[in-house]
Amino acid sequence: MIELKSSAEIERMRTTGRFVAQILTEVGELAQVGVNLLELEQHVRGRIRDRGAQSCYWDYAPSFGNGPFRNVICLSVNDAVLHGLPHDYALRDGDVLTMDFAVGIDGWVADSARTVIVGTPAAEDLRLVHATEEALEAGIAAARPGNRMGDVSAAIEAVATGHGYPVNTEFGGHGLGRTMHEDPHVSNKGRAGRGLKLRAGMTLALEPWFARTTDQIVLDPDGWTIRSADGSRTAHSEHTIAITEAGPQVLTERLG
Ligand code: MG
Ligand code: MG
Repeated sequence: MIELKSSAEIERMRTTGRFVAQILTEVGELAQVGVNLLELEQHVRGRIRDRGAQSCYWDYAPSFGNGPFRNVICLSVNDAVLHGLPHDYALRDGDVLTMDFAVGIDGWVADSARTVIVGTPAAEDLRLVHATEEALEAGIAAARPGNRMGDVSAAIEAVATGHGYPVNTEFGGHGLGRTMHEDPHVSNKGRAGRGLKLRAGMTLALEPWFARTTDQIVLDPDGWTIRSADGSRTAHSEHTIAITEAGPQVLTERLG
């Protein structure tokens, strides 16, 4: 079931979205060479506690993971792209770090992800990160009333294809609002003009993620971390958006 949100409810999600964006900015700035992933997790735990927010991740036990999850942020390094567990690892120069974060505040959820490069970036890693951001922008632009979900998916896919990156269809975006994962599913690959008709009041998390040279994934022995099957580097960009009569609005707009 897809619950359409009122403008007042969208504003409450925007309040949560601002906090989510702020945390991603902070963690991105803290993620310097030599910093341990566990330090980043601890920082976020403190910020959630001080804000009185509820982690969407803690105790989450979905079908795709070995639950319950016992962290408040996903940190995925290099070939890891989704659901990475913060663990005892000190960041190295040139590491590609994906941060994915979702909380609820006063019952309304926002979810966002971004990839940063620690220290000195490799040109091919920057290109990959920028491609996911470009795909996210293209998906957002297509998320307007009257369009169909396939328009969003096809817009994301077209950017990936244009850069030569293959697209995995096992994990994509989703509806959200009162909880983190709601209907509908938003594939990162699709056909324009097909699928669910988009309506004002829908709130969606769009989240293109690509690996440089494969659309295949493998699951770590930790039961959560998803990596590219060929070890190639990955990137992931996600925003929570609301579809309104005036067009798409980003509720997790980045501050820096
Ligand atoms: Mg997310
Ligand atoms: Mg998401």
